Amino acid sequence: MKNLLALITLLFFISVHSQTLLLPDRVFDGVEVHENWSVLVEGNRITQVGVRGSLQVPSGTVEISLKGKTLMPGIIEGHSHILLHPYNETSWNDQVLKESPVERSIRATNHVRESLMAGITTMRDLGAEGAGYSDVYIKKSIDQGIIPGPRLIVAGPAIVATGAYGPKGFHDGVTVPLGAEEASGNDVISTVRRQIGNGADLIKIYADYRWKTGAASQPTFSIEEMKLMVETAKSAGLYAVAHASTAEGMRRAIFAGVETIEHGDGATPEIFELMKKNNVALCATLAAGDAIAQYSGWNKSSDSEPSRIIEKKKSFKAALDAGVEILFGGDVGVFPHGENYRELELMVEYGMKPIMALQAATAVNARVFHLDNLGLIKTNHLADLIAVEGNPVKDISMMRDVSLVMKDGVVYKNVN
Ligand SMILES: [Zn+2]
Repeated sequence: MKNLLALITLLFFISVHSQTLLLPDRVFDGVEVHENWSVLVEGNRITQVGVRGSLQVPSGTVEISLKGKTLMPGIIEGHSHILLHPYNETSWNDQVLKESPVERSIRATNHVRESLMAGITTMRDLGAEGAGYSDVYIKKSIDQGIIPGPRLIVAGPAIVATGAYGPKGFHDGVTVPLGAEEASGNDVISTVRRQIGNGADLIKIYADYRWKTGAASQPTFSIEEMKLMVETAKSAGLYAVAHASTAEGMRRAIFAGVETIEHGDGATPEIFELMKKNNVALCATLAAGDAIAQYSGWNKSSDSEPSRIIEKKKSFKAALDAGVEILFGGDVGVFPHGENYRELELMVEYGMKPIMALQAATAVNARVFHLDNLGLIKTNHLADLIAVEGNPVKDISMMRDVSLVMKDGVVYKNVN
């Protein structure tokens, strides 16, 4: 029913205006808050921004009143998996083994629509998890206007060291559809090139993983192997990111030249120093850890915090104190698509100022992901804009209800 309503809203509100004047109470431009500002959009660009009444508004401009609301850049989700759905519905193993890429892609069409309706206008999707290049084809479907969804930046299958990834637990005669593409030694070069040729926008490397089910993570690729992958990606104009949760995996990935580290749970103070020195940003994926702890039986309202959560809080605070660049990315897909706000709330709960969390979700993610014309409300930037009730800088939970979504100058949602 919720989905049906969303679809009706969507069909009703999709409309292209050549000029739209947005009149909120305030504008968060990706950096700071400006009271009483308004924004003019012409075509798919922001053309004027400033104090209400000071803009040169052409005749025939459509006005959208956003009384009581804050207008801000569309949110840039830094770590999603559109081809996964919550593990408390179906385990990761069963999704990879029992749901066909067709079924997973059909589910993904719902996931990208839910994301857009939640104010996510750009999404960095970090691995199809066994669904091949379905992310590339879903991106193409969105770009062609076949289905609504955010601008996608996709990793394709992602790359794991031979033998390191799952699903595991089968004898060696069983061919298992792995959750990522395996490579080792010099073969990593052809693997990167193939993934780029097939449409990957970036290369995701698993710098560590649990080699055996239930075991602790251990490093996988050598520095040399990761360097080859990073250099191959860079020479094609792309960048590489690393899944890493061990200090050694992170250290190797940093020296190899990746631009972002995903998860980063086991980082030491030395690792955070190295990240800062080498301009490597951290996507901490707090919401995934929080969701998984709850799936394993943690009742947030009555139980004390499990040790993994306590450790993650400490580690996030240490990253903040060390001045590591923090990204917004929750590993959404582990928890429901469209609930991306969970990461923002946890970033604040774990010690970040709300305005910093909002900057991470807009201007910082745009800069780190090389999205030169997104993440800011600024003249000539693309018109990806959202509105929320009240002031999210004062109360981050306002991000739960996004009432206006505009992507590329097109209004996809406008509810009061
Ligand atoms: Zn992930």
